[in-house]
This record gives sequence, C-alpha cells and structure tokens, in this order.
Amino acid sequence: MEKGNKIYEGKAKKVYETDNPDLLIQEFKDDATAFDATKRGTIKGKGSINNYISKILFELLESKGVETHFVKQIDERNMLIKKVEIIPLEVTIRNIVAGGMSKLLGIDEGMVLNEPVLEYHYKNDALHDPLINEYHARALGLIKDEELNIIEKKSFEVNNILKSFFDHKNLYLVDFKLEFGRHKGKVLLADEISPDTCRLWDKDTRKKLDKDRFRRDLGDVEDAYEEVLRRIKG
Ligand code: UDP
Repeated sequence: MEKGNKIYEGKAKKVYETDNPDLLIQEFKDDATAFDATKRGTIKGKGSINNYISKILFELLESKGVETHFVKQIDERNMLIKKVEIIPLEVTIRNIVAGGMSKLLGIDEGMVLNEPVLEYHYKNDALHDPLINEYHARALGLIKDEELNIIEKKSFEVNNILKSFFDHKNLYLVDFKLEFGRHKGKVLLADEISPDTCRLWDKDTRKKLDKDRFRRDLGDVEDAYEEVLRRIKG
C-alpha cells in the first residue's frame, strides 16, 4: 500500500491517503509532547513501539468483538486504518487516581477507585481539552445520543478487556484515553492505544511504565516503552 498525500500531522502521528479512498495510513512518530505541547522531545524508537503495541491491543479488542479502525500493520512505523470521521471527544477511563483527576479533586495518586470513572473531554487544543459531561456533548451537537450510548458501553468493555490483559502482564491499567470515529454508520474505536495514551504501573513496584516518565522527567523513558512491549508480546 503506497502512501499518498499527507492529510494530517499531529503531535505523535501523521496520516496519509492511500489509493483506496476508504483506507488511510497512520505513521507513528518518535516525537513526544506534553502539557499542551509546551514540553517537546523525542523518545527514541517510540513510533515503532507504539505502532506494535497498538496493533497487539487493537487485534486483542477485535478478537473480543470490539470493532476498531485497525486493518493491518504495514511496517515498523506504519499502520493501515479505515478512514473515519473522528468524534471530537476524548473518552478517559480511570481505575486508579492519577494525573488530571488527582489535581482536580486533590486526591493523592494511587487511590484505587470503587468503580471505573468515565470522563469526556472536548477535543480542543486551544481550550486545553476541557472536561465536559454528556449533556454538554449532546447539547453542543458534538455527538448524537445513540452514539454516546455506544461509546459509553464500548469504553467500559475496552476497560474490562485491557485491565484483565495487562493484569496478566503484571501491570496495573491506571487510566487511558480513547477516541472514536464514524465509519459507514458505525462507531469504531480509532486513534491508538499505547503508553502515550495509557498509564501503566508495574504491579510489584508501582514503577510508571508510560508517558509520565517523559512528562515528569523520570528517566528510562525508552526502556519503559520497550518493557511494556516486551511484556505484552510474551
Ligand atoms: N491522555 C491522552 N491524551 C491527552 C490527555 C490525556 O492520551 O490529550 C491520557 C493520559 O496519558 C492518561 C489518561 O489519558 O493515560 C488520563 O489523562 P489525564 O486526564 O489525567 O491528563 P494528564 O494528567 O495526562 O494531563
């Protein structure tokens, strides 16, 4: 599959057209940004690791009946995906308090939640992806009620599948972000699932094995991404 015109370049990925109007190529970059791109850097090898990790997780989810935009891995950095219309919502699921929730509510990181928390953030860089609820999402016309119900159900399903998968790899799935897109009347899971978009802690040591190592200058960033790939491959 040949790359055509580049139609999008974001912080961590580029997207290209292909000769099939229904398919795109998603290329994973080594670039990393945090705090609304005020912190920038590169994580050597991240692009190929995240491509591989996303492939494994999308295949796992597909095997459990969760439809995604993933078609196949093309090579180290490139993945063939279905062209979707991205819904401008970031869905966050949290199992353990960390990051934004710890700040928002003044709770120490690490508190295990009684039940998973689902949050919606409006995808808008200029507004710093503000936290909104389902009433905002519907009232602003970002999404239809039926789609919202599908997204909610799918997100919890994804959480159950991934939580148990990572648990077997001796990792806590602390929280993660999902994006969905519209495709031929269906809602598909889109974007990527990787240590850029999930918080993963080693169950024994609670060592962070995700993008927080970059955000917080904790060191061993590449090693952490490699470690996640090593565990989920095995
Ligand atoms: N996240 C993401 N993209 C974003 C914001 C958050 O992938 O633009 C992920 C993040 O890696 C974490 C989860 O979503 O796994 C929850 O992030 P949080 O809301 O705590 O925000 P952060 O602390 O990253 O600012």
